[in-house]
This record gives sequence, C-alpha cells and structure tokens, in this order.
Amino acid sequence: MEIHLKALTFAPMYRNLVIKVGTNVLTRPDGRLDVTNISHLVDQIAALKAAGISLVLVSSGAVGAGREIFTVDEQTEEVASRQVLSAIGQVRLMELYRQLFAGHNLLCAQVLATKGDFRDDLHADNMLNCFRALLHDQIVPVVNENDVVAVTELMFTDNDELAGLAARMLQVDALVILSSVDGLFDGPPDAPGSQLIPLVNAADESVLDFIQDEKTSFGRGGMATKIRIASRTAQNGIPVMLGNGRTPHVLLSLLEGKWPGTVVTSGNERS
Ligand code: GLU
Repeated sequence: MEIHLKALTFAPMYRNLVIKVGTNVLTRPDGRLDVTNISHLVDQIAALKAAGISLVLVSSGAVGAGREIFTVDEQTEEVASRQVLSAIGQVRLMELYRQLFAGHNLLCAQVLATKGDFRDDLHADNMLNCFRALLHDQIVPVVNENDVVAVTELMFTDNDELAGLAARMLQVDALVILSSVDGLFDGPPDAPGSQLIPLVNAADESVLDFIQDEKTSFGRGGMATKIRIASRTAQNGIPVMLGNGRTPHVLLSLLEGKWPGTVVTSGNERS
C-alpha cells in the first residue's frame, strides 16, 4: 500500500530534503559495501536534483566499508576498533560516492559532524553556513558522524539523530530515513499477518507498542530510535518518511507525490 502525499496537509512537491541512508542499505549481509544498491540510490538522488530539489545526504557505512578492507586485531578495544574502521572506511565510502556522483556530473562533499556541532549557536552557525555554501554551489553534502573523534558525550545516538538535527537546522520540507525495512508494522515485519502502518501521528504514543526492538544487523539505530527521532522532527513541522532503501525507485515515488513506507506527521507542517 502506498500513501498519497496529496491526501496529507503538507505540500507534495519538495524543494529541499534530508535523506538518511543506513548501513544495512549500503552493505550486503556479509558486511561488504553493496555498490549496486549505492549506485541505484545515487541515480535516484541525481534524478531528484535534476527535478530541482536541493538535498543533503546523511550516509552511514564508514565502519562497514572499513570492515570490508581491514580486519582489526581481536585484542583492540571497541572504541579504538570503531575509530580505525571508520577512519579507513570513510575514505573508501567517499571515493565511491565521488565516482558515482561524477557519473551524473555532480560533485559531492564530505561533511563530518559530532554532537558538539549542533550544541551551541556558534558551532551550529558554522555547520549551517557550510551546508548553505555547498547547496548554493549545487554540491551534494554527504554527512556522516565523525566516528574518529565522536566518542562518549560527542557521540550521536546514531545517524538517525544526526539526520533529524540536520533536517531541523536546514528547515527542510521533509526528512527521508531509508533502512532495510519498509516502515513501521503492526507486528513483526516478517510475520505473515503484519501490516505496514502508512501514516503515524507524531503525538500518538500508542505506536510505540508496535515497535519490535530488534535492530537490523550492522547499523547502530533501530525502529525505536527512528520513531522517536521522526516524532520529534514531525513535531517541529517537518514530516518524516520511513522506507526501504532496497525498494527499487523508492526515492522517485516522492516525485509522484507517493510514499510506499510510513509517513510520520504532526499535521502542523508548513505548506
Ligand atoms: N557513523 C556510522 C558509520 O558510518 C554509522 C552509525 C549508525 O549506524 O547510525 O558506520
């Protein structure tokens, strides 16, 4: 079932978006980068840009990309292991994005953030000015947490939180969160009778009862964080689309005013 965005109160044609793509959309079950799917997503992003939509991509996958090319010694403690893998993997990930965007005559740029960049006005202004300058020049910002230095209090819960903060900072028309599930279901997503919930009211806390708290294999977040971030973002006037980043042409459905996943809205969106 697809939700027709025109039926909702907010404008179906988007001028600007933040799109967050999770690790499980970017990597295969064995942890290696899924170059085919990443390429398909970049094709869709290029199509959205060609349609005049300004967008910021929040991409996980650095640790996964690092794991693909390097094996950390088993004795290495967890934080150091994440630092090493992300430091190696971010380069690999950005090189892939650079090549794929170049195939559409687009430039992309790496933006690495920690929680400190959103904490006070001075840091937030620096981040906002950076986004504005890149978007003004038609460059696609590819944002990730700066996992190399983001430790303890500087760490986001996960990239869903980072994407929510970026969406609110940029006051975009919508935040799109792509994972390896179609959206929020009223039961376990794989169970035969489970139904996708196409529309969630951000103020309706009863939806939390539906959340299966298992997390998909490699990413840090899960559906509970997604719904929490989505509700907070929607209550700030920005609708959130949760969808499956492996569904062919999932992003292009936005151009048709449809969404095949779950839309979280507060009904107070700007038009
Ligand atoms: N920043 C992490 C990475 O690039 C992913 C964090 C998350 O799963 O949200 O691997």
